[in-house]
Amino acid sequence: MQRVTKTNDKNQKKELREKIQDETIKRLYHKSEEERATAIANKFNLPYVDLNLIPVEAEIVNSIPEEDARKADVAVIYKVGKKFQIAVIDPEKYETKKLLEKIKKEEGINYNLVIVSQDSLKKAWTSYKIGTVTEKFEDSGVSLKKEDLTEFEKGINSIIDLKKRVSEINTTEIFNIIMAGAIKTKSSDVHIEPNLDYIRLRYRVDGVLQDIVKLPKKVHRIIVSRVKMLSKMKLNISNIPQDGHFGINLENTQINVRSSILPSSFGESIVLRILSDSITGLKLDELGFNQYYLEKVEEQIIKPTGMILTTGPTGSGKTTTLYSFIRRINQPSIKIITLENPVEYRVEGISQTEVGEDKEMSFADGLKAVVRQDPDIIMVGEVRDPETAEISIQAALTGHMVLSTLHTNNAAGAIPRLLHLKVNPALIAPAINLVIAQRLVRKLCPHCKEEYVPAQETIDKIKEVLSNIPRNNGIKIPNEIKVIYRSSGCSKCNFIGYSGRIGIYEMFPMTSNIEKIILKDTSSSDIMSAIREDGMISIKEDGVLKALEGLTSLEEIRRVTGEIFSRKG
Ligand SMILES: [Zn+2]
Repeated sequence: MQRVTKTNDKNQKKELREKIQDETIKRLYHKSEEERATAIANKFNLPYVDLNLIPVEAEIVNSIPEEDARKADVAVIYKVGKKFQIAVIDPEKYETKKLLEKIKKEEGINYNLVIVSQDSLKKAWTSYKIGTVTEKFEDSGVSLKKEDLTEFEKGINSIIDLKKRVSEINTTEIFNIIMAGAIKTKSSDVHIEPNLDYIRLRYRVDGVLQDIVKLPKKVHRIIVSRVKMLSKMKLNISNIPQDGHFGINLENTQINVRSSILPSSFGESIVLRILSDSITGLKLDELGFNQYYLEKVEEQIIKPTGMILTTGPTGSGKTTTLYSFIRRINQPSIKIITLENPVEYRVEGISQTEVGEDKEMSFADGLKAVVRQDPDIIMVGEVRDPETAEISIQAALTGHMVLSTLHTNNAAGAIPRLLHLKVNPALIAPAINLVIAQRLVRKLCPHCKEEYVPAQETIDKIKEVLSNIPRNNGIKIPNEIKVIYRSSGCSKCNFIGYSGRIGIYEMFPMTSNIEKIILKDTSSSDIMSAIREDGMISIKEDGVLKALEGLTSLEEIRRVTGEIFSRKG
């Protein structure tokens, strides 16, 4: 009898414990969905992840069929070889367990689990919107009639629409639809990549490649022929790279397209760069400088002499920034000469010269000639050799304002880079006025962005980033973080969730503090701490502050600057 009572007691306690736990979770449900997910993660001793903070690749999510994923409340979010990381809401849900068993047994795939919220899963599932079109294609051969894209452009309102239309359209029109879709979505590049059994179509929108549709392999030959015809390439040659260009006539403009074809193991792969001439350049206050940085820039660009450097990888918007400086200071009484490779934007009232390895003139040769032209401001596309570095520094020291770019990851890195280019350390501080480093991030679509309450552990991590920001620069740092921002995609942003881009920055003007360090020949970490002492906010911190304002997302800051919130498990 006693035994039975004891067992009953134990069972009752266990039941009670489970009940309390569930009620805790229930209570949290009303507080925040993310907080509830962390409670579930704790319950099962599994890591919690917020998929609004970590970019997930569509290809990986597509590793398991949409129907299965939705039924079982799972998403594959990471994949290394045959090891998956799978996001689940409840590891004990019947359908979830069933699918996981099937993956392990039938497909021999190992996985580890992370707990996510329902919202996170929905976000991952948006990757399934890539359509596959395999039917309704009649292999009718190549038709080369001259069509007008305008009609198609009018009819296509979004990428989703394009997918629908692609399946209704015959092969002869497919190329026009692809180009119309690219123009409509303001893509900069179209990638047509053959795989073993399908053709992958991707657009680059705001700097990021987006999967659009998988096309049946049989349309490949037609698209390749069309591109070759239009670009005046050799139709019968498919084993060497070819490039060319063609124009597309829209209602009242002509759009130029640069085409490139490269042989690959599954057939020729095509990249089409859409050259838009509508780039007008941004104004200084449209670049996204915070108040502290805007003041720094304003102070420095009006100086008559010295050098301003922007740094960052290719495509980080360095040239756009320099151009906005030029636009700001451009006036008839000032002579501005630029040396570029190639000339990206034409600007009224300034003299632009193309230089480069494939031209007759190198940067250094051009620069020597330019200095003799008595300019006030010289823009040198890039400083990448000792000779260009030396002449630029000399020009900056002898009555010219020099604007240029350097290929380094952060602002502090400009100093060791200049030393590496054999610049005399004693000349660096007198010549350099300002060093800027930058990246471009996509802006959240204003039509579909929404606030949500993140988990406490996410808030703690954000606060940790904020706690390192120097406090002597007057930048407002939020004390409390109640909500952060995400987007789910809408017809206005072609279901991407982002629209347009903005810069995130770090910068430092030269100070005696930094000069001392340079002259002591110390490491770049010493340079960095001197710069921080002077008040510099890092690119990542500037990005996190912009994300907290809802201008961009933390997911985007992570994509561009790397680790902020780790992918656990
Ligand atoms: Zn939107």
